[in-house]
Amino acid sequence: MHTGLFHSIDFNAEGKQFGWLSAPFSVDRSPYFHVRTPICTIRNGDGPSILLMAGNHGDEYEGEINLKRLIRSVEPADITGKLTIIPFANMPAVMSARRCSPLDGGNLNRAFPGSMEGTPTSRIANFLERELFPGYDIVFDMHSGGTSMAHLPTGLIEENDDADRHAKAVKLLNALGMPYAFIARNGIDAPTSMAAAARAGAIGISGEFGGGGSVTPQTMSITALAINNLLMAAGLTKAPVLPSHSRMQETLLLSLNSHDQAIYANRTGWFEPAVDIGANVEAGDVAGWYHDFERLSETEEELRFQVSGVVISRRLHTRCENGDCLVQVGRLIKG
Ligand SMILES: [Zn+2]
Repeated sequence: MHTGLFHSIDFNAEGKQFGWLSAPFSVDRSPYFHVRTPICTIRNGDGPSILLMAGNHGDEYEGEINLKRLIRSVEPADITGKLTIIPFANMPAVMSARRCSPLDGGNLNRAFPGSMEGTPTSRIANFLERELFPGYDIVFDMHSGGTSMAHLPTGLIEENDDADRHAKAVKLLNALGMPYAFIARNGIDAPTSMAAAARAGAIGISGEFGGGGSVTPQTMSITALAINNLLMAAGLTKAPVLPSHSRMQETLLLSLNSHDQAIYANRTGWFEPAVDIGANVEAGDVAGWYHDFERLSETEEELRFQVSGVVISRRLHTRCENGDCLVQVGRLIKG
């Protein structure tokens, strides 16, 4: 009764169901408290099975809002197959507008494979990887950089050693219709949802759709486009299900797989960027300046890119500490 995670959903039943994934977790204000993750599952006969999730990080809203809208929009007759939607995967983090859960400090996207005896975040991770992901062809997990980062809207997959599954993932990545996508290499043992999807035998698709703990009409629209296109490319739907004014674009593939693609702070300071996300940069170009407010006579440090490519993210919070990532560059993959 004090471990695990339970629910009343029948994931193979026809029709549309709403429910909670409940993890018992005793807290001061409620000794028999359940940490509850809302979930919706829709089934119409046999066909592809897709799991859409957002709120893995609580302060990343494009996926959360689009999935909430999607849940109201889609009825069983609109699909062929199985569609499960988890808009707020780490609900305590979502409710507190934070990246990590305030209940246990858990970063869900570093908690896989988790444990049924663990903290609430660990138990959600465990349930997703061991119980849920194995039942789906595709797991699409939507991110957005978070409060402290601006992120170029990009699709994202992890390199997969299984050539067949990797080819399928690249095909779906291109089908999203986004201007950029990148392929990361964190390995099959990584504590992320994408590695968890790979371990569970599903094709993992992800993306960063904005950032700054906010949304814009453009980032909402491009996220809706990606969801529509993924569902249609997989054969689950025949027509767009979410409103979007974004146009389908040819996807430029980038890679992010080495530490020299990022610039990190090496001490406390204040970062002034020279370029914004989406900029094309060359190795040696000025990335920004690093100021020390406590040493007025000191010249600001000039930071330069080590690689050529497209700026995919940059830190929004000006004050930085040793170890903070300031900017990342995606390398163009020559097609
Ligand atoms: Zn995230």
